[in-house]
Amino acid sequence: SDSHFPIPICPSEVDYAQHFPHFFPSVMCDQDKCDAPVPKVRFADIGCGFGGLLVSLSTLFPDVLMIGMELRDKVSEYVKERILALRASNPGQYENISVVRTNSMKYIPNYFEKGQLSKMFFLFPDPHFKEKNHRRRVISIQLLDEYAYALEVGGIIYTITDVEELGDWMRTCLENHPLFEAIPEEDLKADPVVELLTSATEEGQKVARNGGQTFKALFRRIAFKE
Ligand code: SAM
Repeated sequence: SDSHFPIPICPSEVDYAQHFPHFFPSVMCDQDKCDAPVPKVRFADIGCGFGGLLVSLSTLFPDVLMIGMELRDKVSEYVKERILALRASNPGQYENISVVRTNSMKYIPNYFEKGQLSKMFFLFPDPHFKEKNHRRRVISIQLLDEYAYALEVGGIIYTITDVEELGDWMRTCLENHPLFEAIPEEDLKADPVVELLTSATEEGQKVARNGGQTFKALFRRIAFKE
């Protein structure tokens, strides 16, 4: 249950310096004397699983801070260890990625300020097939309000699944939300992240090995719909 992991009261209460020590030199800890801007997490991988996407994104965007959110204790511990091991064997690298154990369906606003994020990833989320369990899906009209809050205008939400019905569901929710707009195919071709949705995630690799199909929906956060 939630009592097993700490829940920050608000984003400023999250000890991001502990997650990204290289980006928070010790002098900056003395808040009174320091007026340098506090580095902010910009990408969030929701339900990050074993962390494959974060590891690939880390070297692609070495100056961007990114965090994975994962509900399962053992899995989040694994990701933590994986990142520490990568940092130890590649000095100076992988300092920009970290993970928190949390329930993203409840605590996104506790971690991110309004408009803080430029990318959010929902890759191969659990399908929750039965109709009575649809309320457990990580993409819903209600939760999209929270994701729209955390994303900056122009920010991107990436979703992918191998379950066609869930793919249709995520796309429909996004299409019906007033603060998201589908990204045209041409723009997707220019985005180096798109290819990683399948090649870098553990679930995507599994689907590729089995020759399965995937269904993507990529939407941009907009100020309002025309
Ligand atoms: N995104 C990864 C990938 O593509 O390889 C993992 C996909 S896995 C099928 C879905 C993950 O979401 C699981 O690791 C699960 O524990 C996590 N998850 C499910 N509900 C969650 C929630 N409410 N908050 C955070 N993580 C959640």
